Amino acid sequence: MIATTIGASFDGLLPMPVRVEVCASKGLPTFDIVGMGQVEVKEGKQRICAALAASGIVLKNKKITVNLAPADVRKSGVYLDVPIALTVMKLMGVAADVDVENILSFGELSLDGSIRPVKGAFAIVEQLHQEISVLIAPSAHADVQSYFPDLTVIYVDHLHQLLAYLQNPKAYASPSMPKKAESNFANSIDFSSVRGHHQAKRMLTVAAAGKHHVMLAGPPGVGKTMLAKAFPSIMPNMDQQALREVKTIYSASGLEEHLLGLQPPLRSPHHHATLPGMIGGGTLFRAGDFTLAHQGILFMDEFPEFRRDIIEALREPLEEGVVQVRRAKGLYQYPARFMLLAAMNLCPCGNLGDPTAECACSQTDIMRYRKKLSRPIMDRIDVSLILPKMPWSKVWTPSETQTSSYIQNIVVKAREQQQRRWGKNKTNAMASIDQLKEKAMIHPQSLTYIQEIVDTKHYSVRSMVKVLRVARTIADLQLHPTVEKRHIVEALQYRMKEEL
Ligand SMILES: [Zn+2]
Repeated sequence: MIATTIGASFDGLLPMPVRVEVCASKGLPTFDIVGMGQVEVKEGKQRICAALAASGIVLKNKKITVNLAPADVRKSGVYLDVPIALTVMKLMGVAADVDVENILSFGELSLDGSIRPVKGAFAIVEQLHQEISVLIAPSAHADVQSYFPDLTVIYVDHLHQLLAYLQNPKAYASPSMPKKAESNFANSIDFSSVRGHHQAKRMLTVAAAGKHHVMLAGPPGVGKTMLAKAFPSIMPNMDQQALREVKTIYSASGLEEHLLGLQPPLRSPHHHATLPGMIGGGTLFRAGDFTLAHQGILFMDEFPEFRRDIIEALREPLEEGVVQVRRAKGLYQYPARFMLLAAMNLCPCGNLGDPTAECACSQTDIMRYRKKLSRPIMDRIDVSLILPKMPWSKVWTPSETQTSSYIQNIVVKAREQQQRRWGKNKTNAMASIDQLKEKAMIHPQSLTYIQEIVDTKHYSVRSMVKVLRVARTIADLQLHPTVEKRHIVEALQYRMKEEL
């Protein structure tokens, strides 16, 4: 006799279906799991036998073989305890009326028969929901159901409950679970609570609107970190598609509690981070910060202090929105479309630009420090600014300033303008020189002005393209159809590279 059902495991960040086949025959009592199950999968047989016994199902004189298909792929984690127990119960004849073949289930069993939640539940269901008729899951995953309204979900927290469902599915009532409230703005700082720095806030508003990568420079303690932490609160909320992508990544990484409702994620790795920590890796694959910042913000404080290979590895996500990771079985590609928010001091000791402290660095030290900002990366950063140290008077009596939700509103409107111009999910930051020429509606007088700047100040064509993209965003923030000279003048303020 054979029974089959659907379970799941992970290949890196990607959930994969596992066909669980169980065969029982009379003979010396044995329990074998074959099909490249890793240690924790194989150890499951002790948990499963004990949990079944605790639920009154004794495997007397039974030779049980469990096959996990496809047999040539490793399965790890504790996801398969419940589907294996489920198929064994089916074979024991307790589930006469339920066809378990197209049921997806997961959960870790305890020796007493209780079923524990697993990490990655959302990612598994997102990947497999079209292939299944019913989902059986621990009730701790009840929040998953709101994303899959058409799916029949049965919650079980103990094998007793699974048995009750299998014996009489129509009469089974899932245990109720209080719904977790999804909060917004739970941890981020409101823009209005950051004192002073009007120009920096304005630049971040422009950056959020056009998805321009940002560089903030200045001596330590001027407020770069504070601004970075407040930044997610002015970004538009994630739409359903972005939310599902991000939830899948965080679910598979066991980090779902780090998400704040619809607010884009913010990752702020330390400059001692390793390359695998940033791009992802390890034997049990972990997502790196590039992928965890997908659809959100990657804040790299003390940017030139990051390892050279990390700074170079940024090129691929900044250009393609993905990161490639080499693993034993080949090259894997993971999503990594984020906004880069880089921050740096002006010199290695940090005191340069601080009127109250003296810089101890030589000219060579400073040159070497800034050389780490390689050209291809700096070419991707559209806006940058040197932050001044706040005078005490401004800290003590802050002037009135706009709240995050007010700015977010303006940013959302500017994004709508860009969608109309470039198409869904496209922003000014992605526009090429030809696209700007065709669709950005740059006023002839503005073009003449740009020509003057290129002639007199010898700015490169690349940097002028950046200025045009940013000027287009500034015009979009004002819902202005054409790019005027005043927009270009403002955009020119957000470029510090030439001064360095
Ligand atoms: Zn210095």
